[in-house]
Amino acid sequence: GYRARSAYKLKQLDETAGLFGPGNTVVDLGAAPGGWSQVASERVGEQGTVIAVDLQRIEDIDGVETLRGDMTDDDTRERIIERVGEADAVVSDMAPNMTGEYHLDAARSAHLARMAFETALELLGAGGDLAVKIFEGQDVAPLREDMESEFEYVRAVHPDASRDSSSELYLVAKGRLTAPVREGD
Ligand code: SAM
Repeated sequence: GYRARSAYKLKQLDETAGLFGPGNTVVDLGAAPGGWSQVASERVGEQGTVIAVDLQRIEDIDGVETLRGDMTDDDTRERIIERVGEADAVVSDMAPNMTGEYHLDAARSAHLARMAFETALELLGAGGDLAVKIFEGQDVAPLREDMESEFEYVRAVHPDASRDSSSELYLVAKGRLTAPVREGD
């Protein structure tokens, strides 16, 4: 079984968008407790690599490397780049601690999604894919536009498995257009 029901959302995203292939290198942001990483690890197989990143500690998962850090901190991004080099897919299920105040939660979610996007720009090789969770709100459209300029196309997906929290969606970007751009290049 999987550690989190959210594993089924990633399965569905992968089935609709074809995110992972055997031997791929995948970076999973906001990975605790590890459901998504379990799915990614199955899909990439023994020749593949999965790096699971979270603020919180992640219990060991077969075939998954873990890295503890805050994605709003530049240092975490640098540690990932050092560890991974180039990735085939970046996925982010990061979510803020909910305050219940709709606009604040949406703004925090959008900030985390933006961090995932910027990290993906430094990690993904040409042709690479990105899937990122974001709460509905005014920040979705501008992020989507920025993603559209970096990828072949972007789709908004509402997985059936997340029906219960209808305010979340995933922006799935396929086919990175250029090689990684790194700060200091
Ligand atoms: N996909 C996971 C799974 O299948 O097990 C569930 C992820 S859960 C919905 C969201 C995660 O985002 C939490 O574990 C939380 O600690 C993490 N998170 C929130 N803010 C973060 C940040 N700034 N940096 C890293 N992780 C963060």
